[in-house]
Amino acid sequence: MRIAVIGTGYVGLVTGTCFAETGNQVICVDIDAKKVEKMKNGVIPIYEPGLEELFLRNSNEGRLKFTTSLSEGIKDAQVIFLALPTPPGADGSADLKYILKVADDLGPILENYVVVIDKSTVPVGTAEKVQAAIAKNAKVEFDVVSNPEFLREGVAVEDFMKPDRVVIGTKSDKAKAVMTKLYAPLVRQGNPVIFMDERSAEMTKYAANAFLATKITFMNEIANLCEKVGANVDDIRRGIGTDSRIGKRFLFAGIGYGGSCFPKDVQALEKTSKENDYDFKILKAVMDVNENQKTKLIPMINEYFGGDLKGKTFAMWGLAFKPYTDDIREAPALYNIDALVEAGATIKAYDPEAMPNVEALVGDKITFTSGPYEALKDADALLIMTEWPQFRTPEFEVMNVLLKNKVIFDGRNLYELDEIAEKGYTYYSIGRETVN
Ligand code: NAD
Repeated sequence: MRIAVIGTGYVGLVTGTCFAETGNQVICVDIDAKKVEKMKNGVIPIYEPGLEELFLRNSNEGRLKFTTSLSEGIKDAQVIFLALPTPPGADGSADLKYILKVADDLGPILENYVVVIDKSTVPVGTAEKVQAAIAKNAKVEFDVVSNPEFLREGVAVEDFMKPDRVVIGTKSDKAKAVMTKLYAPLVRQGNPVIFMDERSAEMTKYAANAFLATKITFMNEIANLCEKVGANVDDIRRGIGTDSRIGKRFLFAGIGYGGSCFPKDVQALEKTSKENDYDFKILKAVMDVNENQKTKLIPMINEYFGGDLKGKTFAMWGLAFKPYTDDIREAPALYNIDALVEAGATIKAYDPEAMPNVEALVGDKITFTSGPYEALKDADALLIMTEWPQFRTPEFEVMNVLLKNKVIFDGRNLYELDEIAEKGYTYYSIGRETVN
């Protein structure tokens, strides 16, 4: 099939690359000329495990191409994916300006029947808006389909190539046939392609993200209560996660969820509820709890240092919103950097992938080190923000020499309490007793 992908970010580039890998001819379109130039030269613009190999193979074999020109990109395309940003607008609702601009531009340049597929996360009713925007100037038949994406950054290639399910919202039989053919190579093991109407497909994506954000937040509230009653949230996690009705995943307590999806999608769903005169109380509580959770370590740090952080130096391990990504959108680390710098502290940070993005955003506020141990040198304490596996079994003997105080504030509960007590550390974590 000939496929155009409009928007070449985390979703668009994975979509384009993976469909090229299954033998399609793919052209990716992006307005960012620098990014397109890089990709044309074989340089992948994002970090996503496993993607580079597929990106290079398919580019070299001529199935994956890049352009800044929408008309060149969609020429002869049978399907057009919209993988454009839908950031929160000023009122919290998803801003559709990127999607509707491209829809406007598409109308006059479509030359043959095409299925326009909305892969971005968009509020209920967007497919109808896209349909109307294209129809204003279209001279050919087309269908607009809602096909929300469920990939996780960090394992995006695997998620895309072997999706748990594919959700497709359309009432058109013609579009259904195209979508079935397109996804057939990815669901050979029998995972379902679930057809529904456009509005239900749009809602499915928000329901999934809001549910997962709620699950994390519920566990964070249990953790907060554990601290007050003297229980250990990790034991609770094991105790309830083994119940098949609950499941083991998304039960890890920590300093809140971040990333480009959960915060904005929970906010947008709450906005949709409000617009439809529904008071979605849980979502408001989820946002409220998560807001506080992100800087939950700050009072602990203040307690340890007697409320005076001026002149203190903190080593920060992890900046990305989760491991295996360079994405720092809404990363809890950024909120902690702001709070600590405001209190007069200095930060030396290390992250295996996210440092260039943080440098571009707040490079003047903190310094970066070439490895985790370099960050510890003469630091007053260690702060852990992201659960990169390489932080899980550090060399405590080396750390002892470098750190000024043997104290760790761990926002991701990486270490066992008895192990850390044996090493002689003061250890603050989430939902567990403090080790002194
Ligand atoms: P992104 O910001 O990484 O990428 C968007 C790309 O679109 C950028 O490269 C940008 O330059 C390009 N763009 C903007 N306007 C354009 C235009 N007019 N023409 C061509 N290109 C244009 O975004 P993302 O993380 O890939 O997310 C895209 C959508 O997918 C969002 O709605 C998001 O909520 C959703 N989503 C994201 C994830 C994720 O993990 N990142 C997962 C599922 C769904």
